[in-house]
Amino acid sequence: MTANLRVNIDRLWSTLMASAEIGKTERGGLCRLALSEEDGRMRDLFRLWCEDAGLSVMVDGIGNMFAVRPGTDPQAKTILMGSHLDTQIRGGRFDGILGVLGALEVIRTLDERGIETRHPIGIVNWTNEEGARFEPPMIGSKVFCGLHTLNEALNIRDSDGVRFGDALAAIGYAGQGGLTRQQVDSYFELHIEQGPELDENGVQIGIVTGAFDVRWAVVEVRGESAHAGPTRMADRRNAVVGAAVVVQQVNEIGFAYASSGGRSTTARLTIEPNLLGILAHRAEVLCDFRHPKKGVPQKMFESFVARLPELSARSQCDIAVIQDWQYGAVDYDADLAALSRQAATRLGYTHCDMLTVAGHDSMYLAGAVPSTMIFTPCEKGISHNEAENVTPADIEPGTNVLLHAVLARDAV
Ligand SMILES: [Zn+2]
Repeated sequence: MTANLRVNIDRLWSTLMASAEIGKTERGGLCRLALSEEDGRMRDLFRLWCEDAGLSVMVDGIGNMFAVRPGTDPQAKTILMGSHLDTQIRGGRFDGILGVLGALEVIRTLDERGIETRHPIGIVNWTNEEGARFEPPMIGSKVFCGLHTLNEALNIRDSDGVRFGDALAAIGYAGQGGLTRQQVDSYFELHIEQGPELDENGVQIGIVTGAFDVRWAVVEVRGESAHAGPTRMADRRNAVVGAAVVVQQVNEIGFAYASSGGRSTTARLTIEPNLLGILAHRAEVLCDFRHPKKGVPQKMFESFVARLPELSARSQCDIAVIQDWQYGAVDYDADLAALSRQAATRLGYTHCDMLTVAGHDSMYLAGAVPSTMIFTPCEKGISHNEAENVTPADIEPGTNVLLHAVLARDAV
């Protein structure tokens, strides 16, 4: 009965384009930071769309929004679909947004065809996935999964000192309701790949079976403030130079592991005092090492740590790792992945299994409920960038797979 069912791609596209107007940047991207005025306006519009579809929207304490379409079995748990509506400072129009508005399109399609499900089918918009304004990222799903306390999260401050809880209240999304993880049957996240594999290989669907293992480290470089003019080269302990050798070394390790899929990044550099004419006394470098194979980032990290004495000597600074943590290396639910794979095959779409290299809310969800991700191609893999782009033809297959995989889960 549902074999010929397809989402309405024109309707989904116009919904995405309406979203693309809220926080629009000059270069055609989006700046919609979590809990900003723009985030508030987008949430209001999403709420309106949900209400138009006959769904009432619930908001929990961290601002996660849930809209649930009832099922026929009052005992059945909710099959949840979603992602996030916030963006990076210079972000794109689809990262996260496709997962929420694609889920809305699934509900609209079910409504239009009068299809009842046994399970309730829900949509979620997770708060602050990007972490561009409030760190850490993915705080909404983290609190939902019980991995971060609500109170601590509400007390996080942005770089201007604004408290998370106050910003949430200011846009009207400090709620008291929402779903709990005990009410959720399973979680499906549709997302653009944010990498070039699908686009380059002309594959329509990525079935995400797991996440890269990631090892993060904060490296501190201690030098000594001095006047840039009179200080002789031999006497310098410039923390900027220490940071430079760290950046170089981390990059070399990424190249050393590149052939097996490894990669390394130095994403953020803090320099003190960062002033004209003064040698810096301190620098901090945020690094990460990633690899598809579990445990390899640890080896990459250890090879970096082994080089610290040499890097210290070369820069005449004290260099040490002051904080490090592991993240990712998640396995998604094999049964859900099989449902997506079967749906893709049945619908005649090309597909392949893959891992996610980027972080997603689903990585926390995977520890709490059966979870899966469906990737669609994105142009040249460009993401976290205003130039991020997809065409309707890129996202239609993935949204149809979401629809059919959710219905298959309902029938289990
Ligand atoms: Zn995202």
